[in-house]
Amino acid sequence: MELTFWGVRGSVPAPGADMNRYGGNTSCVELRTQGGDLFILDSGTGVIPLGRKLMTTPFCKGGGEADIFLSHAHWDHIQGFPFFPPIFVPGNRFTIHGPARSSGMLEGILEGQMNPHFSPLYTMKNLGASIDLVAVIPDGPGLECRGVSVTGRMNPHGPTEAMAYRFEENGRSLVYASDAGYPESGPSPEVRELYRGADVLIHDCTYTPEDRAERINRGFSSIAEATRAAAEAQVKTLVMFHYDQDYTDEDVDELCADCRAALDARGGRDIGIVPAREGDELEI
Ligand SMILES: [Zn+2]
Repeated sequence: MELTFWGVRGSVPAPGADMNRYGGNTSCVELRTQGGDLFILDSGTGVIPLGRKLMTTPFCKGGGEADIFLSHAHWDHIQGFPFFPPIFVPGNRFTIHGPARSSGMLEGILEGQMNPHFSPLYTMKNLGASIDLVAVIPDGPGLECRGVSVTGRMNPHGPTEAMAYRFEENGRSLVYASDAGYPESGPSPEVRELYRGADVLIHDCTYTPEDRAERINRGFSSIAEATRAAAEAQVKTLVMFHYDQDYTDEDVDELCADCRAALDARGGRDIGIVPAREGDELEI
C-alpha cells in the first residue's frame, strides 16, 4: 500500500508563509492499494489538489473509480468534497463510506453541506459522477472493499465521535485515527484492538500536552495520547497528523522532536515517527 498526504491540518485550513512546509490543507490522505485501487481517507481541503492530479488521469474522461472513507463529518473532513473536480465528470464512480447506522443517515449528513445556504450545488444529486453511500456500522464486523479488509471503530471526539479505520491487505496494515479525544483511561478496548500491531498508525497529534489541557473539550489528542496509543499497540510507525491550525512550521518541528522524546520515554524506541507533510509519500 502507498500513502500520499494531501492535507494534514486540523479544524480549518491554515494558509500562510509560516505554514508552507507542512502545508495548510485540512485532512485528506490518498491510499493506493496493492491491487492498484484508490482509497481517499477524508475529504478536507486536501482533496482539492488531489482532484487536480486525478484530472490528469482517466478521471478527466469519466473513467475513474474511488472509495472515500470519512472519519466523521466535521467541516475539516468534508469541506473539500464540493470542490473536488472529478465529481463533476459523468462516468466517474465514487463510493463514500462513513460512520452511520444507515446509508440514508449518511446521505442526510452529507447533503447538509450542499444545502443552498452553504453551496450553489444544492444537492449531491446534481453531481455528474455517480455517488454511492455506504454506512460503516460503528460496532459492525467491517467490510471487504476491493480486496482490502476494512474495520471501523469509534473514538470520542468532543461532543461527537469519529471513526478510526483499519485497512489490511496481504498482511500489511494501516490504521487511520484522526480526531481522537480519549478519556483519561485512553482508547477503548475495541480501539486498542484496532490499533494493535499496525504497520502504520496515522494518529491525531493536534496539540502539545499543555495546549490540549487548555482545550480539553475540543476532543483532540496531544502527542502524549498519540505516543501512548502507539506504544501500547506496538505499532511499527506512528504518523503524526492533524496539526493545530495555529502551529507554524517551527512549532510543528518542535512538536515532532517532543513526540520522539515522549515515545522513547514510553519504551517505544523501535517505533518510527513520520510527521505528515503535504505531498509526502509513504510506502507500507
Ligand atoms: Zn478534524
